[in-house]
Amino acid sequence: MRERVDAACRAAGRDPAEVSILPVSKTFGPEVVRAAMALGLRRFGENKVQEIRSKSEALAGEPIEWVVIGHLQTNKAKDVARLASEVQSLDRLELAEALQRRLDIEDRAIDVLIEVKTSPEESKHGLPADQLSPFLDALRAYDRLRVRGLMTLAVQSDDPEAVRACFRQLRLLRDAERDHGHDLAHLSMGMSGDFPLAIAEGATEIRVGTAIFGVRRIPETYGTELNI
Ligand SMILES: *Cc1c(COP(=O)(O)O)cnc(C)c1O
Repeated sequence: MRERVDAACRAAGRDPAEVSILPVSKTFGPEVVRAAMALGLRRFGENKVQEIRSKSEALAGEPIEWVVIGHLQTNKAKDVARLASEVQSLDRLELAEALQRRLDIEDRAIDVLIEVKTSPEESKHGLPADQLSPFLDALRAYDRLRVRGLMTLAVQSDDPEAVRACFRQLRLLRDAERDHGHDLAHLSMGMSGDFPLAIAEGATEIRVGTAIFGVRRIPETYGTELNI
């Protein structure tokens, strides 16, 4: 995987050292995470807090950093505050409020990325782009949340230009906010199927599941031996 990322960086005229890979272990069991750890991986992306909970129990004592990349309900803030090192799907103040309160109790701070909606699909979550500036200003009040950058999911489309436009929008938003004094170093964008486009538009982190771990199990059968 690293070689494919390096090649995409070179094609885009970028230094490969600027782009990291977040392995997405969702639906794969603790034994798969353990095997990945043996290869040196420490950070893992998950889209369900419940999965972080069960895997961190199975892997208790291991130096793993769990990164929440999926839509997050406020009632999950307690487990996130306890178990996660980073949330990339912060998209509303109500969630910031819940996380801050629970992190206060845990006496911890976490890194956050703001998920911005760059595609028109109903199924996609994220903050509307035109609300980013006030949202960033409001987040200054939450000292347990260290804002590191922005995250997005591109539109699902066969047209590479449409996909790339989503990534470009995120980069331009980041550049505009930088001019307003918000230091947003990180752009988390690109997945197994579209990461070269994201790298061409400035991704600093790509989130990769399938291309590393293979085709996912059916979520409903997670924990059984069934594979698709
Ligand atoms: C599953 C997931 C990914 C990884 O997807 P692949 O196509 O398997 O690489 C990336 N980001 C989010 C938010 C995801 O839920």
